[in-house]
Amino acid sequence: MVDDLSKIKKIKAFDNHKLVTYINDNHTGLQGFIAIHRGNSKTPAFGATRIWKYSSSLEALTDAIRLARTMSFKAALAGLKCGGAKAVIIEAGQIGNRKELLKSYAEKVNFFGGHFITGADVGISQNDVRILRRFSPYFVGVKADPVRFTGLGLLYAIQACVKEVFASESLDGRSFAIQGVGKVGSELIKLVYPNASKIIVADINKETLKNVKKRYPKIKVVSVDKIHNQKVDIFSPCALSNCLNTESIKRLKFSIIVGGANNQLEDDTIAEKIYHKGILYAPDYVVNAGGLISVYDEYQNKNYRIKRVEKKISHIKDTLERILEHSKRSNKSPLEVANKIAERYFNSIT
Ligand code: NAD
Repeated sequence: MVDDLSKIKKIKAFDNHKLVTYINDNHTGLQGFIAIHRGNSKTPAFGATRIWKYSSSLEALTDAIRLARTMSFKAALAGLKCGGAKAVIIEAGQIGNRKELLKSYAEKVNFFGGHFITGADVGISQNDVRILRRFSPYFVGVKADPVRFTGLGLLYAIQACVKEVFASESLDGRSFAIQGVGKVGSELIKLVYPNASKIIVADINKETLKNVKKRYPKIKVVSVDKIHNQKVDIFSPCALSNCLNTESIKRLKFSIIVGGANNQLEDDTIAEKIYHKGILYAPDYVVNAGGLISVYDEYQNKNYRIKRVEKKISHIKDTLERILEHSKRSNKSPLEVANKIAERYFNSIT
């Protein structure tokens, strides 16, 4: 199954991860990886689970390793005492009985005995999480749908960026290009639709696009290869990893890039290139921490309170404003500034 184990250490994002586990169940077709970047017996590792059609097991493994590391950065900047982790399940052709597959995955998660806490990422619905929770207490995102809070954090981050570039945080009349209109992308449309002058979207899933267009008739749909070319104020990547790469950045005409997707950059050098093009790129893991803040609160507190969570999420705006300010003063990209803060933090707690 694993193409070549020696390749793991050659994966660029491999950063002395605590644990990388292959999961498999021949009866249900479950195959995937759980990667734990930081965390220990007192500090659990948090990271949602993704189900995706990977083209190879190495691609899936690389995604898990990289996303787990990003989760440590995210937790650090959100001030949460947890390490980063991620699970990916390889969707190979038709999944037979989804409930059985989810049950066998939940049983794998139970082996971690609470050191790995997980929830919904790409390809997993709120309903799936409810099923998973029946078989494992280590699934979060049950008391409130974290997507709502990812969206709220993204909105705060957009306001911080717009204030930085246009000197007012108002979104009235601002134009958007949104890549991916699944859970997070459609939540963003809901939030900006009333005031935006233009919203252009792209998604590989025609059914998803049809539903979103029905709900928000004024949005314009373009093909996935055209979304980077749009002349709008704000580009919001809300799909999968690596959308900002050597090729796509040649075409960017946006003032701001701020989105919900994890690992938007092919690698960190892309952030430097974007910075030198004069485009504000807000580090993804700072922007999209709202869902993690919500599920962490749910895990820590018996009495989950939406008001408390919303307050914590409002700090995303303050954190990003501080990063942007520091970036301006030091003439360093916002990503470089954020990375330094994050690494200092998570290396000190784990
Ligand atoms: P989702 O599966 O609900 O939506 C993803 C959407 O992206 C789907 O509609 C899919 O068809 C589309 N897509 C995939 N490849 C595409 C491409 N090349 N071009 C255009 N569209 C494409 O997942 P989600 O929960 O909305 O997550 C979206 C992103 O946000 C992911 O990177 C995820 O890791 C990140 N994220 C999600 C949350 C959350 O609360 N769900 C929190 C933090 C970060």
